[in-house]
This record gives sequence, C-alpha cells and structure tokens, in this order.
Amino acid sequence: MADETLIPSNAALAAHPTLGREKETPMQSVVKETAPALTLAQETNPWEAQAARFDEAAHRLKLDDGIWKVLRYPAREIIVHIPVQMDDGRIEVFTGYRVQHSVARGPGKGGIRYAPDVSLDEVRALASWMTWKCAVVNIPFGGAKGGIICDPKSMSQGELERMTRRYTAALIEFIGPEKDVPAPDMNTNEQTMAWIMDTYSMHMGQTINAVVTGKPVNLGGSRGRREATGRGISIVTDQALKHLNMVPAETTVIVQGFGNVGSNSAKLLWDKGYKVIGIGEYDGALFNADGIDISELLEFKAKKGTIHGFPGAQAADKDEILVSKCDVLIPAATENVITSRNAAKLQCRILCEGANGPTTTVADKILEEKGIFVIPDILANAGGVTTSYFEWVQDRMGYFWTEDEVNQRLERIMIDSFNDVLQYSVAHGVNNRTAAYMLAIDRVAYTTKQRGMYA
Ligand code: GLU
Repeated sequence: MADETLIPSNAALAAHPTLGREKETPMQSVVKETAPALTLAQETNPWEAQAARFDEAAHRLKLDDGIWKVLRYPAREIIVHIPVQMDDGRIEVFTGYRVQHSVARGPGKGGIRYAPDVSLDEVRALASWMTWKCAVVNIPFGGAKGGIICDPKSMSQGELERMTRRYTAALIEFIGPEKDVPAPDMNTNEQTMAWIMDTYSMHMGQTINAVVTGKPVNLGGSRGRREATGRGISIVTDQALKHLNMVPAETTVIVQGFGNVGSNSAKLLWDKGYKVIGIGEYDGALFNADGIDISELLEFKAKKGTIHGFPGAQAADKDEILVSKCDVLIPAATENVITSRNAAKLQCRILCEGANGPTTTVADKILEEKGIFVIPDILANAGGVTTSYFEWVQDRMGYFWTEDEVNQRLERIMIDSFNDVLQYSVAHGVNNRTAAYMLAIDRVAYTTKQRGMYA
C-alpha cells in the first residue's frame, strides 16, 4: 500500500498552472489503490483517463514528487486559429493544436488528426500517450500530437490543402526533424504529410523530408509504413496467442474500424490464418461466423467506398459486434468505445487496442475482473510510430531499406517490447496496462533525471 508521503501534495499540484485543474479529481484520491475515485470525466475525457493511468503507475513506481509533476503535464501547448479561403470564396477560421508532451528522450513525435470533435484535452492525452508509446518500444522520441477542429469529409482537396499548409506555417518554428515530427492520424494521410513536408521545405529554402513521417514512398516515406500499425498489432496478437497457448487457425477475431489501422490489422491476421468473423464501422457492422474474406472486403470497399452491402457477410449492429463472442477483439477506431456500459458484456479472451485510448478507466477494472488479456494501446499500436522512426532514420541517412528489412526490424522491436511489458507485469504483479505505463514512465523519468533541470 502506498506511502502517502510519496504522493505530491495537492498544494504542490494546485500551484501548477493550467490544465483545467478544476475538472480533475484530486490526485491523492486518484492514486489510492484501495478506493480509486473514478469520475465521470475519466470515462469521457481522454486526458483524465491518461492522467489516472499515469498517476497509478507513477505511484507504484514511487516516482519522485518533482519528476511526477514534470511528466504529468505537457511541456508545450500551442493553439492556432488559421484562416482558410474556402472554395466558395468565404473565409473560414479553424482552430488547431499541437501539444508537445515531452522531448526528454528525443524530438516530439506524433500524428495530426482532423475531426469535428478534436479538443485540447484530447490532444494533450494523445501527446502524452505518444511519450509513453515511444518509451515502451524504446525509440529515441518524445511525445507530441496535433489536431484541427474541422469536418474533413465535407471539405474539398483544395480546402484541405490550404488548411494544412496554413497550419504548418503557423507551427513552422516549433516543428522540424530535431524538434517535433508530425505523422498521419485520424483523417490525415500520406498526401497531408506531403503538403506539410513541402510547406516546411519552402520556408526553409531546401527539401527537408525528415520533418514528417508517413509520407509517400517517393518523397522519402518508408516502405511498410502504411501497413505498420496493423502489422504491429498482428505481431503482438501472435505473441499473446503463444503466451496463452492458442493457435491462429482456431482463433476468431472481431475488428472495430476499417480505416488504415483496422483494415490492415484484419488483412494481416486473415493472411496468417486467423478467422476474422466481424468488422465494425461507425455506421454498422458485418458478421460471418465462418469468416470474412478480407481481401474481397478490401476490394469491395475500394469500389463502393463502404463495407455495407458486402455479399460475404451479414449486416450487424455496430454496438452488438463489440460484445459478440470472439477470441480477439481489436478496437481500431477511436477513444472511449469500451466503457462501464459494455465492458461487462465483452466476450473476448484477448483485447488488443489498435486505437489510442479505446478503453476507459472504469472499464479497465471490469476487464481485469473478467480476466481478459489486454494488450494496451501504447504497446499494441506502437508499430506505426516505430516504422515512423525507421522513416526518420532513413531520411536522415538518405538511404532507404527494403520492405523486408523494415518489417524484420519492426517484428524484432514489437516482440521485445511485448516481452518487456509481460515481464514487468509479472515482476510487479500488475496488469499489462499498468506494466506498460510503469516501464515507459521509468524510462522517461530516468532520462529526465539524468539530463537534470535547466534553470
Ligand atoms: N498517429 C500514430 C499513432 O498514434 C502514428 C504516430 C507517428 O507515427 O508519429 O501512433
């Protein structure tokens, strides 16, 4: 049980500026093991969810008070309001964020998302998760994340390009290969990265492709980057199967989300002989107890722009699919999909988190009681940023690897990281998520202390 003196006092925290502290649960109640004070905000606010997990892991690590405060809050938060001329001549102003949580272990690293519900708290959480994710896989990056509040589905390519370029220009002094390296995230892609790379390069007077990752291969992108998050997910799922004495041919999978992460996870697992029986989307789902041919589904989606109407499966309910019986459930869409409302109904053996923050803190406890083997997001989906690291390395060398070389290196890192987390969990008697946070926080804290405080 906790030595209360190790927990930073509320007075010390109250002295810390910003971060909507009025909404936070006082830290002392968050970190008590016996009576965790979980608030409604932790179910819906990703920042609260991240902070609660951080506090629990920091507490178990007996983290020094000062380092605790340093690592709990982002180092820098940038808000920009960017004017964009729309196709009809109107000027629209979009709000964008870039949060750099930590640069202790290397440049900030993390994606940029475009969505109507982007918020500063969400970007803060995602930036912190990038720090922990990069530390779990032990790559030399800190954590950052960006986002613009917009409805990309209703915008033309021209509008998206102008918005992206203006956002890049507004952040020009804060990003760069040695400072902060953006990448794709929800609703951004290789084309978005090409625009950022070009805008940054124009400002600098030379082509600097290492400013972003997830670029098209002919602009300095890495082979294998597009599939990397899904590939990482398939690798850690294989490892979990080995650990639990299961085999792919007898393993059923349901994937929620059929974007970059979900579709590549489903395809790679299906290629390895897993039986993918369900695919969920935001507006409906597909189910086939005999397995869905993912190659055919990908072709169907490429032609029709949707998975609905696919002849190789029956239509299903998007909420029901999450709680349908399967061996491996992969939420690969967005935050807060496994909550106090549905966690008790989950029927999977393994939960492999493709999305960032798909499980709420309240749901964590329920999953633990049910004995579900959780592969936490900061491990499960780290294949994307790991291959981003390879891309950054290749850009800086100006020498590019084959896809096999990239995939082999990725496999090595994902397997090692899976084993590190598992060992940490056994050694400390904690669940996989807490183990992953402890491992990551321990690494970042070590570097932070070693660098010392500049004053
Ligand atoms: N957006 C991805 C993530 O959440 C990739 C980040 C990156 O490659 O920098 O991990």
